[in-house]
Amino acid sequence: MRLWLKDPIAVLADGAERGLVVADGRIVELVGTKGPATACDTVFDAGRHVVIPGLVNTHHHFFQTLTRAHPKAINKELFPWLKALYPIWARHLDRNGFRLGVRLALTELLLSGCTTASDHHYIYPPGLEDAMDVEDDEARTLGMRMTLTRGAVNLRAKDGGIADDSVIQDDDVLLADCERVLGRYHDPSEGSYRQVALAPCAPFNVSKTIMVETARLAERHGCRLHTHLGETKDEDDYCLHHFGCRPVDYLEQLGWLQDRVWLAHGVHFNDAEVARLGRHRLGVCHCPTSNMVLASGMCRTKELEAAGVAVGLGVDGSASNDNSNLMEGVRHALMLSRLTYGAANVTHLDALRWATEGSARCLGRDDIGAIAVGKQADLALFTLDELRFSGAGDPIAGLVLCGAHRADRVMIGGAWRVVDGTPLGVDVARLRHEHGEAAKRFLHNC
Ligand SMILES: [Zn+2]
Repeated sequence: MRLWLKDPIAVLADGAERGLVVADGRIVELVGTKGPATACDTVFDAGRHVVIPGLVNTHHHFFQTLTRAHPKAINKELFPWLKALYPIWARHLDRNGFRLGVRLALTELLLSGCTTASDHHYIYPPGLEDAMDVEDDEARTLGMRMTLTRGAVNLRAKDGGIADDSVIQDDDVLLADCERVLGRYHDPSEGSYRQVALAPCAPFNVSKTIMVETARLAERHGCRLHTHLGETKDEDDYCLHHFGCRPVDYLEQLGWLQDRVWLAHGVHFNDAEVARLGRHRLGVCHCPTSNMVLASGMCRTKELEAAGVAVGLGVDGSASNDNSNLMEGVRHALMLSRLTYGAANVTHLDALRWATEGSARCLGRDDIGAIAVGKQADLALFTLDELRFSGAGDPIAGLVLCGAHRADRVMIGGAWRVVDGTPLGVDVARLRHEHGEAAKRFLHNC
């Protein structure tokens, strides 16, 4: 069945003046001025919509939606922020709260135009051993693509780690679960809805053994690898003190300077490190909102891209954002980059490219992230009806500059998943109530 998304206000693609045609879950034609080449079975009148590729989120911590704007953590930089929150997470995160946090974050992402998510989940208190299964289940309900990013912390406090011992799994347990999750969910095929990446949390809370072992596992299973790196100056100091080298050198020692790796943040790389990361074809997920909230610094997006690094975008965890709106992240990426590179050298098209094609590359995918023939039909459609857009000249620039934050329609694999601003498969009012109730425990008794 051929569906024509007809005559939109604008499409983020060349040669699609009159829209595009979708069939069997993929984009099969960009419609130029003459209309579709072959007759279509159905027509969707897109006359109120600006159409962009579905956004791809490459870094998040869904469970942190339960501790947004937490009084014990606000107004702190990363290390003291983590020290304030770890005991609270360890004490209160249970399976029901986690499920609601996952559902809420995915719904927020979807409503912001995101069609492929990833969640770097690294704490596993007793009762949450099947966290990846919960995430798969929730993403399935919403019809979203997702990379299940199986994280871990394993450095105990007595060994210099900052995570609470109760959320740490033994090495053999966590490695066995990595294998289980890979075997059960990792689908590398074109159009896949579920992939798995292995993601030890960060050099300061994971042992060398786990970093090395996960890299071996990833090689064996052909999956991606992910971790936090270069987020703060404190991390530089920690690595110099404990490992006698900077974070990128440490990564190389672990066998992690390779093209299956994408890193979260990448703020504090020097020129030589940027070049090395490019030579080894790594990816970096820029998290502008979180970097501003925690005062971490500014990712060197343009230099990294010029060096050959895939630059993607992420909202980061909801305790350091404190939302899950990737379209807002696009705007923040543009604004923050402007401070570094000037007005002429970074545009809304750069920021949108990071959130789509760049993010897809970070996740190792070339079947999503662009509006082109053969790509998956993952689309975000925004109207310009709100007051904030009135008077906007360039519709695509207007989305970013005027602050679009909620899609009117979202399509994933050719199926509508958001219709008239409403996500299908979730009761938003009920979710808001249940999640809000679950979050109260994290606020009191902490
Ligand atoms: Zn993070």
